[in-house]
Amino acid sequence: MKYELVSGLETHVELSTKTKIFCSCTTAFGGEPNTHCCPVCTGMPGALPVLNRKVVEYAIRAGLATHCAINRVTHMDRKNYCYPDLPKAYQISQFDEPVCEHGYVELDSGKRIGITRIHIEEDAGKLVHEGGFTFVDYNRGGVPLIEIVSEPDISSPEEAKEYLEKLQLIMRYIGVSDCKMQEGSMRADVNISLRPVGSKEFGTRTEIKNMSSPSFIVKAMAYEYERQAEILDAGGEIEQATLRYNENDNTTSKMRGKEDAQDYRYFPEPDIPAVRISEETIEEIRLSLPELPTEKLRRYIAELGVSEANAKLIYPYKNVARYFEEAISLGASARVASNMIVGAIYSTLRTEEEKENFAIRVPAKELSALVAYVDGGKLNASKANNVLLKMLESGEPVSAYVKAEDLAGLSDEELLSLCKGAIAANPKAAEDFKGGKEKAINSLYGFVMKGSRGKADVAKADAILRDLLR
Ligand code: ADP
Ligand code: MG
Ligand code: ZN
Repeated sequence: MKYELVSGLETHVELSTKTKIFCSCTTAFGGEPNTHCCPVCTGMPGALPVLNRKVVEYAIRAGLATHCAINRVTHMDRKNYCYPDLPKAYQISQFDEPVCEHGYVELDSGKRIGITRIHIEEDAGKLVHEGGFTFVDYNRGGVPLIEIVSEPDISSPEEAKEYLEKLQLIMRYIGVSDCKMQEGSMRADVNISLRPVGSKEFGTRTEIKNMSSPSFIVKAMAYEYERQAEILDAGGEIEQATLRYNENDNTTSKMRGKEDAQDYRYFPEPDIPAVRISEETIEEIRLSLPELPTEKLRRYIAELGVSEANAKLIYPYKNVARYFEEAISLGASARVASNMIVGAIYSTLRTEEEKENFAIRVPAKELSALVAYVDGGKLNASKANNVLLKMLESGEPVSAYVKAEDLAGLSDEELLSLCKGAIAANPKAAEDFKGGKEKAINSLYGFVMKGSRGKADVAKADAILRDLLR
């Protein structure tokens, strides 16, 4: 039978507040085990939690950026479960009155993936298995999280990946998280079920826990689809279960039977009062939001005239986008500036991380000065590219490489005489070209370029040469 995949994601995003959600311990990643802790985040009896105001603000930011409604009253609940990573034996989370509800994330296709809710909660500690022992490190305990729960609107592994990448980009843009999947600051639980194509009812789902890479999510979903399809084809039933994904052999295996909300005995957290969120607070936060990723991408293409390919290479990185916009505001043309960024500059930034950090030695002002020469027809693009590569290496300004004599420009007469000279000096190439060998014109360009010390405009030279050779 043919099955349709149905999936919803529960995405945990670690917030980049300085301190934890209920105490003033640091949220810094790593550190000697159990050094970022206090009685509150290690759950000592009698310790009282105090809600970090920033956590609520960040959750509201995340909600507004994903088109959610913000609840005017929100409160914390206890989610009871017993496991050593959580010494209180309950997690302080939210159940029936989360901060945000009813939003969406739009995919490139225009399809919207609904967001059921965004709630705030505390992270648990980390278990470390070593030499036959298990150790607990509570440094991560109490680090604030938002959990973004999607509607079961996702219908393929590719959509799941795109949804997650969009979410990641939005959270980074609005500055609530660095969303580093490799450091665990963004991780997703992937719920999957199958139903016969055309059927309206959902099938029984499984949930793959704690996925921390979009490419593994794609593989895990594809595997789980096949596994469930085989069971259904054989007339079997899917067991509702919580699964673990094994990266080594790309399979899933059962961790435990699925628990329901009632298993957690949720009840309102008595130590933390409900939070009222005023209309003014919401508006203030709305006004403080930056331009969002999809808007930026659209603006680059539609208003600035950047090619779609370049725009897509620039907009994902906050610092690159800022640099690009600064260069433009200083007068550079968007087209040439974007070419130089994805060309020369990106050739020196190999990893995602390097692009993200964007620590380069050429300030936007210098790029814009260089681009101005290209825009003004005083320097051709390939020469400018070479100059930029040298500037990136040395950190020196444009003026160190581009001399006044280089910028004198080339008059039309000079270019014409260079072209004539090129033909006179290369009679064979000229004859070959006339005889139909297109490529022969290349050696003539080369000659003109050399003669002009790189100043000649290739397109102009091409037109003149062809004219002369007719
Ligand atoms: P929990 O997993 O904590 O019990 P929910 O029941 O609210 O929470 O569902 C969590 C996620 O599972 C949501 O993202 C939802 O979209 C998704 N989901 C719910 N039912 C299905 C289904 N039949 N198939 C696939 N995903 C589902
Ligand atoms: Mg779940
Ligand atoms: Zn603490």
